[in-house]
This record gives sequence, C-alpha cells and structure tokens, in this order.
Amino acid sequence: MSNSITNNKNSNLDESKYSMDTHIIYGKAVTNKWDYAHHVTAPISSSTTFRLDSVERGAQGFMQFANTEGEGDKSPIFIYDRLGEPNKDMLEENLAYVEKGEMAVSFSTGMGAISAALGVLAKSGDEIIAHHTLYGCTFSLLTNWYPRYNIKVNQVDLTNVKNLNDAVTEKTRVIYFETPANPNLEIVDLKAVVTAVGELNKNRKPEEKIYTVVDNTFATPFCQRPIEYGIDFVIHSLTKGIGGFGTDMGGVVIGPKKFRDLILLFRKDFGAVLNTKSAWAILTYGLPTLGLRQRHQIASAMKIAEYLDAHPKIAYVNYPGLQSFKFHEIAKKQMLDFNGKFAPGSLIFFGLKGNAASENKENGKKFMDFVADHSYTMTLAVSLGHTRTLIEHPASMTHSAIPAEKLFDHGIDPGGVRLAIGLENPDDILTDLEEALRII
Ligand SMILES: *Cc1c(COP(=O)(O)O)cnc(C)c1O
Repeated sequence: MSNSITNNKNSNLDESKYSMDTHIIYGKAVTNKWDYAHHVTAPISSSTTFRLDSVERGAQGFMQFANTEGEGDKSPIFIYDRLGEPNKDMLEENLAYVEKGEMAVSFSTGMGAISAALGVLAKSGDEIIAHHTLYGCTFSLLTNWYPRYNIKVNQVDLTNVKNLNDAVTEKTRVIYFETPANPNLEIVDLKAVVTAVGELNKNRKPEEKIYTVVDNTFATPFCQRPIEYGIDFVIHSLTKGIGGFGTDMGGVVIGPKKFRDLILLFRKDFGAVLNTKSAWAILTYGLPTLGLRQRHQIASAMKIAEYLDAHPKIAYVNYPGLQSFKFHEIAKKQMLDFNGKFAPGSLIFFGLKGNAASENKENGKKFMDFVADHSYTMTLAVSLGHTRTLIEHPASMTHSAIPAEKLFDHGIDPGGVRLAIGLENPDDILTDLEEALRII
C-alpha cells in the first residue's frame, strides 16, 4: 500500500502509447496520488478484485485464505471481495476487540450472520434450543426453514435455566438466545446458562459439545459483552446500534478462533458478504461513536421509562433500568458499560391500559396512528439504535411471523409497543408522548 504504482510493478512503463479509452481505466501507471500509507481515516477500499502480481503470489493467497494456522502474522493477500478485503477486515478486528472475542467475521445483514453461526454449528439431525422470545425473522428461520433441513428447534423459556436442562437431548448442539430479547426485553442470565451448559458438556465428546450463541444486538457491546461470561458466540445486527445512523445494513459473528476458517468458508460459499462501503461507514462512523451515542440514549431511555411507568394510562413498562421490571436484578449484574457502570440500553417495551389481547385493542392503534401523524421526535418505523427515535407495534410488524394466537406463548403481549430511543433531547420525546397519551 505504500508504493505509488497503480497497476503493475513496472515503474518505467510509458502509458502515453495507449489510447484514451484504455488510459481512463488505468490512469497514470505511477502517480504520487496513490498513497495509502499516510491516511488518518482508513480510505474506502471499494475493489471487488485485487492485483495478484504473480501466479505464485496468487496461489499463496488462495492457500492462506481461511487458513488461520498457515496465515501466521503474514500480511494478507487480498484476492476477491467475497473472501476478504481491507475495510471488512479492519472492521472485523475492531468488532472482535470490542466484544472481547478472538475473531469476528462480518456479513451483509444480521440474518446473514445468524444463518452462518447456526449453519456451521448445526447440521441435519441436530437440535437447537432457543429462547421462546426471538426477533421475528430469527423465529421464521428456525421454524419455517430449519425443519426442511431436519434441524429440530425447541423454544423454551430460558429465563428459567431449569427449562434448558429439561429440553436438552443428546442431539442438542446449540443454545440460542437474545438478551435483552426482542421485543419484550426479557433477560436471560448469562452466567446461569454458561454454568448449565458447562455441566452438560463435561460428559460429552468434543464433536457433541453444546455451543452457546447470544444475539447481543439490543444491548450492543457498550452495555454487555457475553463472551466475558463464557458465552461462545456473539451475533450482532450491525444495522442497529453499532451502525448507529440507519444508513447501512450489516451483521457479524464473533467467537473462538478455531471457528474462523469454517465461518469464512461458509460466507464465501453462501455469499452474504458485507458491502465494502457499508463496512467503511460502520468502521468510520458507527463503531467509534458507539459509547457517545449509547450514553446519551441510555440516559434518555431511563427518563422516558420512568415517565411512562408513572403514567396513569400505561399498564406496564419493561425497561432493564426500572426497579419495577421483573428482570432488573439480573440486568444490573450483566449489563455493564466499558467502565463497569449499569447500562440498561436504549429499548423500551410498554403496554397501554385496556389494551390486553382480550380487551379492546383500538387504543393502541389510535395511539400509534396519532404518533405517526403528529409526533416530530418519534417515527413509526421498525429498526432501532438510530439517531431518530423509532416506535413500532411488534405483533403486526417486526414479529408478524409469529402467529397471533401464539404470541403469548412466546412472551409477547399482542398490544405491546416497542420504543427505540434516538439522540434527540429527551424532553422533546416526552412532549410528543404526552400529547399522544392525552388523546386515548
Ligand atoms: C434486526 C435484528 C436482527 C436482524 O438483523 P438484520 O440486519 O435486519 O438482518 C437480528 N436480531 C435482532 C435482535 C434484531 O433486532
């Protein structure tokens, strides 16, 4: 990267003998503008393919790919975007670091990352135990697709670890959950799961080992780092809190180094590769501002959760920072920021009074439609971890893959509202909430 040559290695090449059509492809063979050695911000590296210089170096590159052992500390030989390239690789280094993992592999979306982690850990005939509350598309992946591949999924309430021990069979290979869970913020005790799985693994052969996988999207690594508690793999939708601005999609799997090659090969062949421009944006804007954004969002979420909790028209508020929340004590133990301070996140789930499944649901609809029409600081939209506060109705939106009559079995109140706090002044969000609550 430090030389000043744009194409081949011959610096005596005279490009003036070539046509304009050709010249506009190559530019000057030698130019002092081609200097990537002195950048402060990483340059966007948007190249699908890489000059290999010689057949020997090309062959070496293919040998080194997905060969962590053979790679040593050699500098990488980039070949083709889908195998690896500078922006993604730099982002992966930083993501592994922030989650305290040994390695990270990025994907085009959170779903791409989830499919890859489960794709390398479970095969036909195996079983997965998952928490009963999951993001809608993860639920759909596990219940609509995995039966086709003869992978059985058992969804149980993992907030009680006894249910894990009851559900486990000799075919179980993966324990999968989100904590806090999307959308109701149920919290699974990381240490309790790690301890239970540790016991189960004592009597298992290495190839029958059970691995734990946590989708840490709601917390972000600012609020919680599950690998510190002994969890094997962490997943993120980079589209959310890590990306942070609502501009780019992405996903990542972080975990033990020994799985890196397999996950890279899975990405190479299934193809859910993170776009280089998105990798660059997340590396340059998203991750470096994570702490700054989260600190603001947590402070706002706390204030808003307290306001809602005290409001006469609100039936309940699920927010890990509230003492009244069922899972507050576990949250306090495991949701800690980079400095060890309680960090309850930026998501709130709440229910309006008179809005339970059996009662009149009109209030909830009226409330959300009023917000959609009148609020300046709340946008009716899915997603989260954005600069803007987003409000949505999980039962009819993010979690519509779950049949309506089954929502309660999955811990989801059909009338519940999910609020994802952004970077506004929280008093303005309170103004909008107050107006919307007045009309119902
Ligand atoms: C959004 C989300 C996903 C999926 O991520 P995409 O980037 O949209 O594919 C997975 N898990 C959770 C908890 C999410 O909120």
